[in-house]
Amino acid sequence: MIFSPLPGTPLITQSFGQNPDVYGAWGFAGHNGIDFGVSEGTTVYAPHDGVAHTVNDGSAGYGLYLVITDAKRKSILAHLSEVTVSEGQNIYQGDPVAKSGNSGQSTGPHLHWTYKILRNGTVQNESNGYDGAVDVSEFTRLWLDQDLHFDAQYTDFAAEYLAMDFDSDVYLKNASRHA
Ligand SMILES: [Zn+2]
Repeated sequence: MIFSPLPGTPLITQSFGQNPDVYGAWGFAGHNGIDFGVSEGTTVYAPHDGVAHTVNDGSAGYGLYLVITDAKRKSILAHLSEVTVSEGQNIYQGDPVAKSGNSGQSTGPHLHWTYKILRNGTVQNESNGYDGAVDVSEFTRLWLDQDLHFDAQYTDFAAEYLAMDFDSDVYLKNASRHA
């Protein structure tokens, strides 16, 4: 069960797998995540539980970004203006963890979210052309109006997540954590 890092129906400005011509320069088969077009300072929430790790690449790449990982999954939340959790902190799904921004290699304010499936702490299917990143829009589709699916290929490892049944109100049940 994974939440979108932004409540509601945020605008998707680039979905998974798009623009292979651009991302070939990074060694990817296309965009390796989802971009949300949100203004700087928008609160970003933890998509899932995990341990926080902050990296600051300055004006390069992802800029200021937060990695949230546990044994089963890893999220990278990038181009931030601020991380609001401590290094090594245990964080829980739905916790506010950062403020979006426009840091790193970015053409405008947005949040980039990369999601990877892990098994016992190891990223699965790293040779999928996206360094193991998968199209997380399929896992969060209940909370997004737009059809984000973009020619995605799913691994066997993704199947167990895709097969999950979601209660349509589960996100709302946690609304207090998003106040
Ligand atoms: Zn992006």
